[in-house]
Amino acid sequence: MEAGDRVRVEKGKAVYEGVLMPSPTGSLVVKLDSGYNVGVRPGEARVTLLSKGRPPSSAPPPARPDPNHPAEDVHSRGRASSPAAPREGLPQVSILSTGGTIASRVDYRTGAVTSQFTAEELRQSIPELEEVARVRAEQVYSILSENMTPQHWVELAQRVAREIEGGARGVVVAHGTDTMAYTASALSLLLETPAPVVLVGSQRSSDRPSSDAALNALGAVRVALADLGEVVAVMHDGMSDEVCAIHRGTRVRKMHTSRRDAFHTIGGEPLGWVEPRSGRIELSPGRRPRGGDLKMRGPLEPRVGLVKFVPGAHPDLLESYRGMRGLVVEGTGLGHVSSSWIAPLAELSRGGMVVVMVSQCLEGRVCDRVYDTGRDLLKAGVVEGEDMLPETAVVKLMWSLGRAKSPEEARALFRQNIAGEYTETSRA
Ligand code: ASP
Repeated sequence: MEAGDRVRVEKGKAVYEGVLMPSPTGSLVVKLDSGYNVGVRPGEARVTLLSKGRPPSSAPPPARPDPNHPAEDVHSRGRASSPAAPREGLPQVSILSTGGTIASRVDYRTGAVTSQFTAEELRQSIPELEEVARVRAEQVYSILSENMTPQHWVELAQRVAREIEGGARGVVVAHGTDTMAYTASALSLLLETPAPVVLVGSQRSSDRPSSDAALNALGAVRVALADLGEVVAVMHDGMSDEVCAIHRGTRVRKMHTSRRDAFHTIGGEPLGWVEPRSGRIELSPGRRPRGGDLKMRGPLEPRVGLVKFVPGAHPDLLESYRGMRGLVVEGTGLGHVSSSWIAPLAELSRGGMVVVMVSQCLEGRVCDRVYDTGRDLLKAGVVEGEDMLPETAVVKLMWSLGRAKSPEEARALFRQNIAGEYTETSRA
């Protein structure tokens, strides 16, 4: 038996049927028809060959499918087994892949995770997608998300806009989890969208038995068809394998290095939940519903820094930010730094830099009117970042500076709530 063969695996009372995956680790990995993988040790299960097949291809299809090529034709290239044809009359969802674990697989010789699966392969490995939508998949980048830059965000926003203009009912962006929150904030600010724009990733690559890739991707496609007009992230929720949470793009954060339910909405509840398999969706009345016009709201000013104050940090540290147009300071508690930082921050601010204060607490609101150091910071021209997450504040400052003609205008823009990046009242 070899990779690509269709097999039946019997282990105790459990019986699985699917396609044998390449697995040089010695364990048997079978991709089930549901798109999920199961892994079993060879001696512990009875494996029967059902039919011979072609090994699953890992050769990348063309990076940019011809836009004039019907999605159905793109879809049929290089598949291991013949799929059900996309159902006529289903709405179109575009999947733009940028890379990350959701588009990766493990190199079992080195143990490294490499980003090499294309959006097309992602779609192929989750056959249920075809039941839900007419999927148009395109690989925009093939990078780990730590390599994303503000330039990628702007380009990605333009690509998303093009899909919506081209008739997509919703757009899914497959993305690495590490910096997904930054991209989600950037897309939220750069795009006023009449349709859902859904970021999705996975903590475990799709060739691992515990992968969350298929569930998350199916959930994302379902949310892309929902009554939403904003940028969200859809990721595994809780301990079960049943539910994904829908997080607002400007309020979401990766809070765990490896758990599948690593993503949380900070300072509130998620915008909703989706059961990817049944298709049940619950949406909060606080979401922005579908509709309105599509607008691009760029550009971004990339010269923005983020500095975390730690006790005893020397103020000379701030010298390295000279020349930046904006600086987000992650202060302690309600938004504080030591007295020794106040004069240098005032000088940077007087020199035209926009300095914003956010809190290391993550939960709760900055208030610099309570303690002396806070009041001194306000006198120094520092802008309170409300209850904005530090990552969101960085992107918001890039956005404000990109659009404004002066530091004053940038400060005023920064204070406006554009895409729910801060809440009006923090929960106690
Ligand atoms: N380092 C990877 C990335 O962010 C991790 C992931 O995708 O989950 O691209």
